[in-house]
Amino acid sequence: MADPAECTIKVMCRFRPLNSSEVTRGDKYIAKFQGEDSIVIGGKPYVFDRVFQSNTTQEQVYTACAQQIVKDVLGGYNGTIFAYGQTSSGKTHTMEGNLHDTDAMGIIPRIVQDIFNYIYSMDENLEFHIKVSYYEIYLDKIRDLLDGECGGCLKPHICYPEEVMDTIDEGKSNRHVAVTNMNEHSSRSHSIFLINVKQENTQTEQKLSGKLFLVDLAGSEKVSKTGAEGAVLDEAKNINKSLSSLGNVISALAEGSTYVPYRDSKMTRILQDSLGGNCRTTIVICCSPSSYNESETKSTLMFGQRAK
Ligand code: ADP
Ligand code: MG
Repeated sequence: MADPAECTIKVMCRFRPLNSSEVTRGDKYIAKFQGEDSIVIGGKPYVFDRVFQSNTTQEQVYTACAQQIVKDVLGGYNGTIFAYGQTSSGKTHTMEGNLHDTDAMGIIPRIVQDIFNYIYSMDENLEFHIKVSYYEIYLDKIRDLLDGECGGCLKPHICYPEEVMDTIDEGKSNRHVAVTNMNEHSSRSHSIFLINVKQENTQTEQKLSGKLFLVDLAGSEKVSKTGAEGAVLDEAKNINKSLSSLGNVISALAEGSTYVPYRDSKMTRILQDSLGGNCRTTIVICCSPSSYNESETKSTLMFGQRAK
């Protein structure tokens, strides 16, 4: 386990494959991979803790991005995993994937499985309380996507990973109800899934608690200033502001700066106690490999570099 006083920030970079419309348009595959940690675009190298090529499996991404954080959360630390990138770059694929398919499941369902496997493996003197919450942040306002909270005091033998997946489905359908175009909406809002694990040893009464925030960020693409007006422009400015304040917080933490501007946005305020202190933070920056998206991909890579 990592040193408790140490704040670890890891930046991982994942490239999805070219999609069919990119192939049809005749886009070029512009990403050149060098070793396990660097990517070259337009002759410029960008180095991260890990770079995942387009054929990387969901399981490989999970192992590298989340496995250690899950261990730390079960050891009583708080953690956060973010997916950052333009719309259609693979953020939701990375965080959720297909919740009900063993191979295609993303980070969140794998975390849930890992936590329950851990609980099943522990002795009977340990009582676990798993609580999950699911929120979205839109125009700097937070909305609860679940009626109440799933969980409560659930003993290992009556709680299953599937109950958590069902809760995510419920939250997603609540998200759908309020909007006409779900894809557009999800790209304009941040979603935050929180898993809270409390443990108590019923003999020694020793307690341990860890929180893990799993964040699928709003699309980072620039809205062209000429085309956008009114509500669309407000949304764009707001997303821009919240993503840049997240960038400021992460780079302040990465630099070990004494002042961290948590209060600049709703999201950084909510995440404050999981980002600061003995934090475990992983950012997965998601990229398209297409020549058509080159400038967005470069700005995504720059965001990731700032956090290092
Ligand atoms: P975002 O959430 O960033 O808008 P999505 O995760 O919805 O993007 O991905 C857009 C599309 O690309 C989806 O159909 C998704 O299944 C597919 N996709 C994304 N990443 C990958 C990947 N690594 N491998 C295969 N398909 C992917
Ligand atoms: Mg998405």
